Amino acid sequence: MLKLPISYGRQFISDEDVQAVVEALKSDYLTCGPKIAEFENAFCEYVNAKHAVAVCNATGALHIAAMALGVKPGDNVICTPLTFASSANCIRFCGGNVKFVDINPKTYLLDLDKLKETLAASPKGTYKGMVLVDFAGYPHDMEEYRKVADEYGMWILEDACHAPGAYFVDSTGDKVYAGCGKYSDITVFSFHPVKHITTGEGGIACTQNDEYKEKMALYRTHGITRDADKLERQDGLWYYEMQELGYNYRITDIQAALGISQLKVARKNVEIRRELVRKYNEAFKDIDAIKTPYEAEDVYHAYHLYIIQVDDRLGLYNFLRENKIFAQVLYYPLNLMPYYKQFGNKEGDLPVVEEYYKHCLALPMFPTLTEEQQEYVIGKVKEYICK
Ligand SMILES: *Cc1c(COP(=O)(O)O)cnc(C)c1O
Repeated sequence: MLKLPISYGRQFISDEDVQAVVEALKSDYLTCGPKIAEFENAFCEYVNAKHAVAVCNATGALHIAAMALGVKPGDNVICTPLTFASSANCIRFCGGNVKFVDINPKTYLLDLDKLKETLAASPKGTYKGMVLVDFAGYPHDMEEYRKVADEYGMWILEDACHAPGAYFVDSTGDKVYAGCGKYSDITVFSFHPVKHITTGEGGIACTQNDEYKEKMALYRTHGITRDADKLERQDGLWYYEMQELGYNYRITDIQAALGISQLKVARKNVEIRRELVRKYNEAFKDIDAIKTPYEAEDVYHAYHLYIIQVDDRLGLYNFLRENKIFAQVLYYPLNLMPYYKQFGNKEGDLPVVEEYYKHCLALPMFPTLTEEQQEYVIGKVKEYICK
């Protein structure tokens, strides 16, 4: 039987996931226990990272990442406008200024040429870093962005909330997974239910840099350490020191247990997503009025979202909704949000993302989407577009 409504994304919780959470609930630790490190290690293995710091959500991960990178009041940082608010907000949390640079019309990622133009137009040292978002699951060719970052002495914070499991192949033939840190300084992921892997709420920051890792672990829990080597005094085993101003961004063992279990099927689920993409692309390939997503040869796209572009987006959105298909529009350009407009950002500044926004629509994309559901979605899209 066809199950309706169909949303653009949703989580999958298996019986094993439930069992893992039940076991965590019955264990000695609900938080600050052994499941946290176990989850961090499993995630490192999944994305080929050296260090991972798991936290309560990706917004917290972005915040401690920006702190570890040393963002200070008045620092200028480049960011893509095509993202969820947190990617830029983490710079604002630290008092930095956000400079939005337009997207590439094919990949929807921050445009490399426009980035170079922007940097060349100001004295070296104007921009401290860049926040790059692997939008929809498309991984950046980070080798190219690294060259630019190095030329200008900038750091790279990669927001890979859409892209766990994605990789590109670099000039040495390496599969460079989003999060492995070969070219970016810190990479952040989210475990919100709509993302690939869920812990209810949750996030993680990955890095190869030992110092960033230490700092982020400290900022995660009030800036407090109990590490005897780092303490100024040795009063006894009860003694701890608050050495920096940090937050409570901890994740629980209950959530970490769920994350460990979810990771076991993560790679398979990306394959299922890619199979769904093949079916959508095949169904729409002869329809000029539907623009399907681009994927370069040397890229393994993780397809958090399957985004098409059509002329009459509002019409299609409403028609699908009437038919119990909850497609989604992602995202309204962040530079045009009222909060960011107060800094002088205005309509017309970034024409490519504005044009994209007028036409984009994310169709249902999640591993448990059934063949019957996908055919129903394809049928309804065609019915409206080819009418
Ligand atoms: C979901 C998301 C976030 C925020 O993640 P939370 O875990 O909800 O804080 C940040 N950036 C991007 C690109 C996202 O998709």
